[in-house]
Amino acid sequence: MVASDIVIPPELRPGDGRFGSGPSKIRPEAVAALADAAPAYLGTSHRRDPVRAMVGRLKEGLAELFSLPTDFEVVLGNGGSTVFWDAMAFGLIERRSQHLHFGEFSSKCAAAVWLAPHLEDPEVIESPPGTHPEPKLSEDVDLYALTHNETSTGVAMRPRKIEEAALTAVDATSAAGGLRVRPGDFDVYYFAPQKCFASDGGLWIALCSPLGIERIERIAASGRYIPPSLSLKVALEEARKNQTYNTPALATLFLMVEQIDWIMASGGLEWAAARCDRSADILYSWAEGSDSATPFVAEVPKRSHVVGTIDLAASVDGAAVSGALRANGIVDTEPYRKLGRNQLRVGMYPAVEPTDVMQLTRCIDYLIDALPEAPEVASLR
Ligand SMILES: *Cc1c(COP(=O)(O)O)cnc(C)c1O
Repeated sequence: MVASDIVIPPELRPGDGRFGSGPSKIRPEAVAALADAAPAYLGTSHRRDPVRAMVGRLKEGLAELFSLPTDFEVVLGNGGSTVFWDAMAFGLIERRSQHLHFGEFSSKCAAAVWLAPHLEDPEVIESPPGTHPEPKLSEDVDLYALTHNETSTGVAMRPRKIEEAALTAVDATSAAGGLRVRPGDFDVYYFAPQKCFASDGGLWIALCSPLGIERIERIAASGRYIPPSLSLKVALEEARKNQTYNTPALATLFLMVEQIDWIMASGGLEWAAARCDRSADILYSWAEGSDSATPFVAEVPKRSHVVGTIDLAASVDGAAVSGALRANGIVDTEPYRKLGRNQLRVGMYPAVEPTDVMQLTRCIDYLIDALPEAPEVASLR
């Protein structure tokens, strides 16, 4: 039997089959609200209301969601988190940064900084996939770059402020809105809308402490060349006027605000984090109890509650499982391509129903029984 011919019984299927780690499930209610608002909103100027008011709601909503002190500011711009790394190299790192490298995204952040001619080579501390390294105090470093959730491996680490005088900048692209954090733990906490915020990609958003803002302003005044589209100072000034430097995607802003409002109305960040805890508990408990699956991340506290990675036994062809799921409308459970493991990766962001994660595990069990044994995948492990 070809894997994609297997029909999963309806009673096992999740209500919504989107388990991607980004882009991720967008709630149908938010899409319906966008359709309702569209005639007066989509296709209107980003220099006027209602779009500027939407940026204002985004800023206020995030300040509330993250309990930001009044002297913190929300800054945003186009290009997603990847572009923020370049903005960081130009406008946030004074001379030298330290990076924790434990997967694809954290390594890309370090790589973006490496070739900047005005910066010294970064200090990079690496650990194998499935773990995370610890930062080291260093007199030589003016910015510590952490990653709250390494989306490629499903490893989460608790962000914390490393040193009083140096900046702590946290890539929270897949963590923000689903994992717990306190404003005292960072100077810059940056992310994009297509993960926990259940919107589309293309924007970056940065929550900045007074020390972070001071750094942005000081570097901008130093005479260093900064391309305007990558200037955090320009973005900061525009954000203060509820704008972005150039045209943002209006639908993306709208869907993100919908998600923030939904989380706030449901109980805020603690509610969202508890919901992700529940999904993660379902997924990892299932894997621990299964003869065919194990959580990839060995240390329980490092297991992400928003992106779960599950190794499959050599007798199970993981690609056939995710392929059969896909053929049944249950999508994006494939592992991160470069990790190269016989694995499933499951996005469990706040928009995902914990009961759907439960149903997903039942679908996987069903497929493991229905698929032929695959000894050839042993070579992958
Ligand atoms: C998805 C992701 C990125 C990349 O985000 P883009 O908006 O696509 O640039 C960066 N870092 C982490 C941790 C991510 O999960």
